Amino acid sequence: MSRFWSDHVAGLSPYVPGEQPKILDLLKLNTNEHPWGPSPLAIKAMQEAANDRLRLYPDPQSTALCQAIADHHNVSPAQVFVGNGSDEVLAHVFNGLFRHAGRPLLMPDITYSFYKTYCRLFDVPVEIQPLADDFSICVDDYTRARAVLPAGIIFANPNAPTSMALGLDDIRGIARANADIAVIVDEAYVDFGADSAVALLSEFDNIAVVHTFSKSRSLAGLRVGYAVGSAAIIEALVRVKDSFNSYPLDSIAQAGAIASILDRDYFRRACQAIVDAREALVADLAALGFEVLPSAANFVFARHPQHDAAGLASGLRDNRILVRHFAQPRIDQFLRITVGTPDECQRLCQVLAVLLGDQK
Ligand code: PMP
Repeated sequence: MSRFWSDHVAGLSPYVPGEQPKILDLLKLNTNEHPWGPSPLAIKAMQEAANDRLRLYPDPQSTALCQAIADHHNVSPAQVFVGNGSDEVLAHVFNGLFRHAGRPLLMPDITYSFYKTYCRLFDVPVEIQPLADDFSICVDDYTRARAVLPAGIIFANPNAPTSMALGLDDIRGIARANADIAVIVDEAYVDFGADSAVALLSEFDNIAVVHTFSKSRSLAGLRVGYAVGSAAIIEALVRVKDSFNSYPLDSIAQAGAIASILDRDYFRRACQAIVDAREALVADLAALGFEVLPSAANFVFARHPQHDAAGLASGLRDNRILVRHFAQPRIDQFLRITVGTPDECQRLCQVLAVLLGDQK
């Protein structure tokens, strides 16, 4: 500990992201990227922006991108907030809505681990709600009456790393029972088969939904994410952003993201390809004896009743395949596997078959 640090900084521990290896000939099924490239129209738009616009400062409000996102979701631009990846959008959510509330934020025990990191960073107390035995989110834990009003509620839908999704009726019930606090639904993986809570925005002013271009739009390297919500929630994020005088997105990111949003056909095909590959992967893993949780995401969460998950992950690594293993209570016997192309999924299953045979 340095004498320059406050107790707050000394208490911070870094978020541990999925491995981004420098060696490129690995099959990366560990951080839920899309196996395809982004829309060719997005690449063209970024090339044009690189040629024409880099001399100039970008639009600090990302006006055209907010409009494109608003049109896409049928909301007004005042209901849209963009940032450098949804992680940055989430930082504004925590800073603008939960910091200084002095009351706990409700979240599932197993969910995107970044939420707890932000709670530490922004000094937000946490109240954990355990997942049910089948790893689903227990809706009742978020709807029952409480003595102290929470600061808000956050969960991922589909949840990560479990891949399981709540239906809209459940989310509606959570929003209705918590009319005085913000309910944040992180929909990083929603495009692969879950229902989006954007559909509830006309009914509720306490919901904000967070999306990313990193998964279904194949633009993880570009760093674009956004929130759509009631104008009141979005204004809180904008106020925090404006007090930093920050430009959230550069010109290339704005151009690429707009073109990606407009290329609906490519987006639809890119999502469907993953859904198809996922169904095949689930069947192949089940045939190898894995139990696979019902996935609505571009990854699956699977365990083998007879084989140790950490051993399988390291065996896969020896075969140049990366998957994610969490050394965390309750889920340390699971592997989180990103859905790749059909060929990549087959290669994974072939190697797994050998490893399972070797470990018998
Ligand atoms: N939310 C969830 C649930 C995620 O899994 C991720 C990616 N790890 C993110 C948000 C952040 O994605 P990005 O910052 O790339 O938009």
